[in-house]
Amino acid sequence: MKVAVYPGSFDPVTLGHLDIIERSARLCDLLYVGVLVNPQKRDALFAWEERVQMLHDATAHLQNVHCECFQGLLATYASQRQAAAIVRGLRAVSDFEYEFKLAAANRHLAPHIETVFMMTSHEYSFLSSSIVKEVAQLGGRVQGWVPEGVAERLADRFLPSGGAGR
Ligand code: ADP
Repeated sequence: MKVAVYPGSFDPVTLGHLDIIERSARLCDLLYVGVLVNPQKRDALFAWEERVQMLHDATAHLQNVHCECFQGLLATYASQRQAAAIVRGLRAVSDFEYEFKLAAANRHLAPHIETVFMMTSHEYSFLSSSIVKEVAQLGGRVQGWVPEGVAERLADRFLPSGGAGR
């Protein structure tokens, strides 16, 4: 059985993430989507439990996708899950340098696990969780960028009326 892990902060999950999840789930038997719980990073908008729940709701139609959280080293998490591959998404050239270093570090720590890069679909090439949060905070529309349930949670956070006027 081929297992892969797709790690990230997913704060919150976007349709760009979901596109990578759907495409990579077709290439393996079981895909773990791992939300990194980083106690040092206190500026997350959503608690990790909420982030996992949003991912869980957004991937309910995918039988071989399991969403969960993990702490500590990605290489350790991927080894524990007996993953053959770590999936990462690439948007612009700006992603490359960081991803290149991360892949090299993970290869050093877990040489038996391949990092597999999936190119963004062009309609999501600009999309990041940060852009979604900024736009939502300023009252802009995020429909078409995030799953419906996520748009509702963002409205609850940022719009005083809890979503009226979306
Ligand atoms: P971000 O805050 O950049 O959205 P995450 O840590 O949640 O970041 O991202 C997890 C992974 O998903 C990373 O490999 C990131 O490059 C990738 N990713 C994020 N957004 C997209 C997108 N729109 N298209 C393709 N890959 C993406």
